[in-house]
Amino acid sequence: MKNSDAPYQFGTLAIHAGQPPEPTTGAVMTPIFQTSTYAQKSPGKHQGYEYSRTDNPTRTAYQTCIAALENAQHALAFSSGLATTDAILHTLKPGDHVISCDDVYGGTFRIFDKVFKKMGIEFSFIDLSDLKKAEAAFRPATRMIWMESPTNPMLKILDIGSLTAIAKRKNAISVVDNTFMSPYFQKPLQLGADLVVHSITKYINGHSDVVGGMLATNNNQLYQELKFFQNAIGAVPAPMDCFLVMRGIKTLHVRMERHAQNAIEIARFLEKHPRIERVIYPGLESHPQHCLARKQMSGFGGMISFFIRGGLQDARNFLEKVRIFTLAESLGGVESLIEHPAIMTHASIPAESRQALGIHDNLIRMSIGIEDLSDLKDDLNQALY
Ligand SMILES: *Cc1c(COP(=O)(O)O)cnc(C)c1O
Repeated sequence: MKNSDAPYQFGTLAIHAGQPPEPTTGAVMTPIFQTSTYAQKSPGKHQGYEYSRTDNPTRTAYQTCIAALENAQHALAFSSGLATTDAILHTLKPGDHVISCDDVYGGTFRIFDKVFKKMGIEFSFIDLSDLKKAEAAFRPATRMIWMESPTNPMLKILDIGSLTAIAKRKNAISVVDNTFMSPYFQKPLQLGADLVVHSITKYINGHSDVVGGMLATNNNQLYQELKFFQNAIGAVPAPMDCFLVMRGIKTLHVRMERHAQNAIEIARFLEKHPRIERVIYPGLESHPQHCLARKQMSGFGGMISFFIRGGLQDARNFLEKVRIFTLAESLGGVESLIEHPAIMTHASIPAESRQALGIHDNLIRMSIGIEDLSDLKDDLNQALY
């Protein structure tokens, strides 16, 4: 790909953006620049790289690629999704107030509640699918609104366009954690967000072999500030991890299509199954915000939550019987995973809050992989009986 200004489509960008052949050898794949430091011609005279915490060519290629996929000017890579959140929260100061969606990712809740609260930042956890409640939660000190859509594990859809518009009026930065959709199905910056955040550990890498995070923005001032924190705090990914994620990204568009195709079929299958009480998937007409999902997403992703009939023991029996689905935390890989939010991913949320959110003992969350659909359906069916 030669002209980086051309309006290329997503799949072309996923494979080529930021990754021209390496100029000294012609290597088609971006090398893993496994170096911590760089030779200088004269003190201060270098070729743009001084030290790999600050910048590394493999990381630059990876950041450029993600920026292209999110239609952003800038992207910054971190060593985990939560390290990205850490850098973003460091743009705040004691006394500042943050509004977060209530069923936010468990680790995000924990860093807000157990790390940044202690440092004097205040948080309100609000059902942001209710715009009136969202607007009422703003205070003079509100500096940031933190959204996830769809939320996890209840897969509520937040109206990103309306929430970012409210935030702008109130002079607050709006952040969208886009992990569940990936830039292939949802572009939060185009919906008005200032920052988009990813755990690339999930769909973007897609092979369950790297932990990493990324943010993207079109706001120059925010970018400069966050670039400073990337270097000053130092939670950067290693060159090998940057390489692995770029390799994963080359199939992101193909994987996302297949995740979504499998997921809608499995959601419809479960919806009719006598052992299932209720299925939550944004692509189902029965999802209360199906229309909003249709409006702001270009696909519905690969995450499904459902309530099995009965209680904890029924959920346990089912989870012990699956064969292709692996009982494990995390999501977004090519392989199908299944888990019990109340005991596993959302255990760090206090029991009362879990109940209020609807994370009951018969709730199960699945990350639908890209295996053959009939095998996945058969597996669920045999485990349900
Ligand atoms: C996994 C996840 C995170 C945290 O990312 P790590 O890479 O595990 O640090 C944040 N948000 C969402 C929605 C996630 O699924």
